[in-house]
Amino acid sequence: MEVEKTISQLPEHYLTSLKTVYGENIDLDLFYRETLSIHELAHLYHFKEGTQPQRKWLQELFATMSMYSFIKEKSNSSYQLMHTYPEFIIQSGDRMAEFKTLKDFEEKYVQKLTPQNYEWFQMQFYQNAKAIIDSNKSDILIRLQKFLINTDLGKTKILTDSELATRLEKEVGKEVTAILTNWEYK
Ligand SMILES: [Zn+2]
Repeated sequence: MEVEKTISQLPEHYLTSLKTVYGENIDLDLFYRETLSIHELAHLYHFKEGTQPQRKWLQELFATMSMYSFIKEKSNSSYQLMHTYPEFIIQSGDRMAEFKTLKDFEEKYVQKLTPQNYEWFQMQFYQNAKAIIDSNKSDILIRLQKFLINTDLGKTKILTDSELATRLEKEVGKEVTAILTNWEYK
């Protein structure tokens, strides 16, 4: 796997925290299977009623907020499995990401980004999801789910970024609007 190849090339001191949580051989299945599977399950909560979100980053944010909230509240023994790898990727910086704008994410998504670049985006969403849930804004999660369903492109026209920002602010919360307006890479 590409990610494992990247990890194996890192200096030893970067690996200590990963080894502590995922074992001497850094078994990332513990991350993907034990925690990311919850993210995948969470998608079903909007897929059931709509599969064409206004923006793919919003549906990924929703799934990650759901995962984070569930593990934090209901399965805290898995918290380090969920948190350590993303933290490591975020600390590693941007060098694995050729594309960094939200527009890139919409256009390329899973199919046209390298696995590392796709994962880089997911970790940015993770960081934002964590900040929102940790600030006790978990009601945003339910509002975001409703927003995804109500604005699904199956029943609504596509919103411009400024229309989207206005509606997110009103219907979901300023914390989610801020992701759009404050995204570091334009
Ligand atoms: Zn997803």
